[in-house]
This record gives sequence, C-alpha cells and structure tokens, in this order.
Amino acid sequence: MVAKLERIGIFHPRDLLFHLPYRYQDRTRVAPIAGLQAGQDALVLGQIEAVNVRYGGRRMLLVRICDDTGTMTLRFFHFNTAQQRGFEDGDWVRCYGEVRRGGGGGDQEIVHPEYRLYSKRPDEADVAEESLTPIYPSTEGIGAAAMRKWVGQALAGELENLEECLPAEVRERFGLMPLRTALQTVHHPPPAEDADALVAGTHRAQQRLAMEELLAHHLVLSRLRAKHKSRSAPAFTADRGNWDTLRARLGFSLTAAQQRVIGEIFADLETPAPAMRLLQGDVGSGKTVVAAAAALRAIDSGYQVALMAPTELLSEQHRQTFSRWFDWLGIEIEWLAGRMPAAARAQALRRIASGEAKLVIGTHALFQQQVEFRQLGLMIIDEQHRFGVDQRLALRNKAAVNIGGGAGGVPHQLIMSATPIPRSLAMIFYADLDISGIDELPPGRKQVQTVALPNSRRLDVAERIRGVCRDNQQAYWVCPLIEESDKLQAQAATKTHDALVKLLPEVNVELIHGRMKSADKEAVMQRFHRGEIDLLVATTVIEVGVDVPAASLMIIENAERLGLAQLHQLRGRVGRGAQQATCVLMYQPPLGKLAKERLGILRDSNDGFVIAGKDLELRGPGEVLGTRQTGVQQMKVANLARDRALLPTIERIAQALREHHPDAIDAIIQRWISARESYAEV
Ligand code: ADP
Ligand code: MG
Repeated sequence: MVAKLERIGIFHPRDLLFHLPYRYQDRTRVAPIAGLQAGQDALVLGQIEAVNVRYGGRRMLLVRICDDTGTMTLRFFHFNTAQQRGFEDGDWVRCYGEVRRGGGGGDQEIVHPEYRLYSKRPDEADVAEESLTPIYPSTEGIGAAAMRKWVGQALAGELENLEECLPAEVRERFGLMPLRTALQTVHHPPPAEDADALVAGTHRAQQRLAMEELLAHHLVLSRLRAKHKSRSAPAFTADRGNWDTLRARLGFSLTAAQQRVIGEIFADLETPAPAMRLLQGDVGSGKTVVAAAAALRAIDSGYQVALMAPTELLSEQHRQTFSRWFDWLGIEIEWLAGRMPAAARAQALRRIASGEAKLVIGTHALFQQQVEFRQLGLMIIDEQHRFGVDQRLALRNKAAVNIGGGAGGVPHQLIMSATPIPRSLAMIFYADLDISGIDELPPGRKQVQTVALPNSRRLDVAERIRGVCRDNQQAYWVCPLIEESDKLQAQAATKTHDALVKLLPEVNVELIHGRMKSADKEAVMQRFHRGEIDLLVATTVIEVGVDVPAASLMIIENAERLGLAQLHQLRGRVGRGAQQATCVLMYQPPLGKLAKERLGILRDSNDGFVIAGKDLELRGPGEVLGTRQTGVQQMKVANLARDRALLPTIERIAQALREHHPDAIDAIIQRWISARESYAEV
C-alpha cells in the first residue's frame, strides 16, 4: 500500500493533507426529477412505480421511480435476484449518479446508481448529506473510500501541527485565509460552504492554496535567478567592428525593434554577470540576425558561442545562414549533429576544444555529448518553447561545467522563442529570465491569407499549387499526424507525395521527413532553397525556423487536429518574401465547435500574441507553453487557465516577502516543490 501511495507522490502522512480533491460530488440537495439535466450528477428521492426485468439482447433490470415533479428510470445490467426483489412498488429509493437521456426518447435515467431503499418516505434532511463529497485523485488498487479515510486521519493527526508559511501580516494584507482553515475546508467542506465555487475550483480556500503553490514556483525561479546573477561571466567589451561590418552587408536595415533588443542584449553582455535573456519575437520577426549580433560580440572578445536548435534541419539552416554571414569575416563555424560519422565528429570535437571553432551550431547533441569548449562565453537557444523548463535548467548547469579555459565563470545565455508568453505566465515559468520583445515585423511583409477548406476540395487546392508554381513560386504541403511517431509521419508523407506526383505531373514534387538521412534532408532543403523544387511535401520537421522566402503557399492537412501555436508556427514558413502568401488549412468535416473556433482564429489573425492569448483561453497553458513544458503538469492545486487572475498578486506577495519576511521563503518552496523535481540546482 505504501508503494502505491508513493506512486502518487505521497511519502508522509503530511503529504496527504496536500493531496487535494480534484472534484466534488454534491449530495447535499435532493434534485426534483423534472429539473434533471443529462450529464449532471444528481441525488434523487423517488417512489418506486414499476420494476421490470427485460430479456432479449442484454438482460437488464429497470426500476421506474417518480417524485412530485416527474418520473425517471434506474437501469441495472448487473444485478442478482435479491437485489431485484429488494425493489418493491410503493417503496422509496434515494439514488445518486450521472443522469443520462433515456433510449428512444423515454424518461431520463441513471445507470447503476448508488442507492438506498426506504419502506416509507424519509425526510429530505436524512437523505441529503451535510457536505460535499470530495473525490481524490487515486491510483489502481486504492479505493475512493480508503483514500477518503486516510485523508481524514491525516487531517485529524497532522493538520494541527502543520506550520503556516505565510506571515500573518502578509495574509491580512492580501486577504488570504489561514492555511489550516483552507485545507480543512477543501477536504471537508462545512455544510454552509459555497458548493458551486468549490465544484468550480474558485472557492477562497482553493485559491489560497493555488496562490501559495504558484508563489512557490515563482520564488524558486527568482531565487535561481539571483543565484545565477551572483556568479561571474566574461564581459564582452571589445569593439563592435565585426558587427558593424556585417550590418552594413546584410542587404536590409534593421527594424527599430531589432535595434532596441540588440541594445538590450549588448548591455547584458558587457556586464560581468551572466545574462539570461529571453528574446520573444513572432515568427519571421528576424531573431536570427539578433543572435548573430550577440554572437559577434562574444567572438570579438575572444570567446566561443554555442547555438542550439531543436531540430537538425533548423540547425543545418542556421549553419548556412551563419556561414553566409561569418565566412566572409573569417570566423570559423562548426556543426554538431546527433548522428555523424565518427571521424567528422572527432574532428569537430577537436576544433571545439582547441577554440578554433568560434561558433558551434547544433541540436541538443551539443550538450549531451562529450563536448568540451575551450572558452564558451555565450549560449544561444533557438525556439526554446520546444524545450522544457527543466531541460533549460539542465543545460545551464551543464554549460557551467563545460566553460573550460579557466574563464572563471559561466556563459551568458540568450534564449529565443516565437511563442509569445503572456507576461502573467512568464512570471511563473520564466521568472529566472529577463525578457526582450521584437514587436514589429520587417517592412513590406504582407499578411498571410488563410483559408480553411474541407478535404473534398483537394482538387481545387492542387489547381492552386499549379498556379503558384507557374508564377515561379514555391509551396509546402505539410502532413502532420497527431502521433509523435517519426515513422508514421514519414509513411503518411510518402503516400501523399506519391499521390501528388501523379496529380501534378508538371510540378516538381519532392519529399522531406524526419526518417531521412541528414545529408539527404540537407540536399532537399538546399534544392528547395535554390528553387529547384516546386512543391515540398513535408512532415512537421519544417515546423520551426525554416526560412525560404520564395515559398508563398502552404497547405496543412489535418489542421483541425493541431494546436493553434503549432499551426501559427507552420504558417510562419510562408509570407517571408515580397509576394502575397496563402495558407490553406485542410480539414476533415464535420468540425467540432472548438475546432471550428480554432481555425477561425487563425483565419482572422496573423498576430502570434493574439493567437497565444486565445490558445490560453481555449486550451489552457500547456498548449501555450509548449506541450513538453514540464512544470505545468507538476502543479498540485493551481490550474493556470483558471487561476490566471491570481498572478499579478503573486508577484506583489513575493515582493513583500523578499522585503519584510525573507525567512519565510524557504519553507514555502520546500512545502510545494519537492527535491525530486527539476529545479535541482536550488
Ligand atoms: P525568425 O524571427 O522567425 O527566426 P528570421 O530570423 O528567420 O525570423 O527572419 C526571417 C526573414 O526575414 C529572414 O529571411 C531574414 O533574413 C529576414 N529579415 C530579418 N530582419 C529583417 C529586416 N530588418 N528587414 C528585412 N528582412 C529581414
Ligand atoms: Mg527563427
């Protein structure tokens, strides 16, 4: 039993206090039959009118009951004779369960209700329970009743000695109830308590606990940040010669927003404390060139730079972009991938260790393998939303080890993301970072026109591709599958590719997917870049970062199954050139209400910030932060979609604690964030 409890994170009786109900059953009110809604859990009191056993097909017991307002049916598929005999016409029954619409438009019904029989009409007060029944998250082998019993014992035995972490002064100022009262209320709601609020999770007691949990996450990251900032880092004070040269040769002028964030980043890099900056900018806002500016500052001061991308394809593209920019300046670039010929890898590692390679580009292989830098001064992480909070922190720790060269410090960090995180969420998940934003797209970009079409319009879509290719523009056809399996994705894309080759004989169609060899992927991308391929059929390997300005049409299949953020990212692959770009979202009808709403949002907006905001409303923070973002799932009480309104207050409480009660912080962190979780460094 202990092992079973440990599986759900309960190691000590005290942990049971924080094992909170995830919902409640309301047996405090007897519901009149006429008012029952399908889907509702209800407590009903009725008199038995008829008892029937029906044979044929499946044997079942049907008990019809009535109250003053109407009649309904109790339906049993599993029953024994004694049970059947127990139901007698004229007796009374109290039952609880989920109401369903009956078959064939008949009475409403409850299948297998919990029930109790009475020979005469009982008082309603005896039938209803005094308080809500808590339902706890459990695990196989632990029954609901056992869980309730243990929690009850913990409340009796442990609650009294549970320490309050928030000082009284802070509680009063922010109107928070005492911890013990909150826990007592949540586990055993007193009869008079606002049942609707408890069921909805918005009760003051629940909010008090959610507040403390979110506060703990905020505090732990803030502390991490303070600790990190107290270390030393190299100050890049060499002059900006190379950056000035590159800037003059770019062929475009920087937007005001790019110039502003470059200023902010330079200020960081000139300071001998490790920078930790998140650069947010919508898809296509031009983050890569900002990364180049930062990299040159480090390199000009004699340090190495690591640039990490979430996919091999994107890292390969970065290699090409940076080669175009840096070769000419005589700056050596090295590339490191997961799968590489041993000899090439060994040579790359040597050049990194010797310091010959100034800029090292790669996937997370960069930090997983035996990579020793001579003098790593700056790490840049692109598309960081694809990595989780804990991965980010792990990388930071690892980099500190790998700095080498006796530089006596840790590298600066710049992380880039196209997913705009609302400030409130950033406060919890990125409280360890400074944030810069590029809030403007390069001039002359036209909005991507987005249309949603059912699969039945495939031939029209093919016609559109024909037209685009005739005008010497290019197109993507994206075949995403919901499964994260490379293999299945590759199969689906291959099938689509073959079909499109037949359908569009005059168009040069090629295929790219994650199961291809790096060299083959690279060759295909280069030919697409050069315009030798008209239509590229792809899996989501092209989701992030890929930049081919002449591509002006994107078709996304199964669009109804993808999240908004992902669709916006994908769509960001087009509209990078001067011509009007179009994105076609193909779907399989019929569309559900939510799917319809999502596709509508994409049709109406090109603004990543607006889209992220809607996403947050529709799907909750997991989607906005990236599904891989751990931390979100680790919340015990708080639900960010529901508790978002608490966030500004949390920052104020944190401030008050730091100023007046710094001693309280430790206990709050320890209570909510177990040592086994990812913020291992703290
Ligand atoms: P993202 O922010 O999505 O990473 P990129 O850095 O890939 O965007 O830039 C998108 C495209 O815009 C690239 O082709 C890049 O060269 C170009 N670009 C970047 N900044 C500017 C600018 N200020 N003016 C014109 N084009 C720019
Ligand atoms: Mg990019």
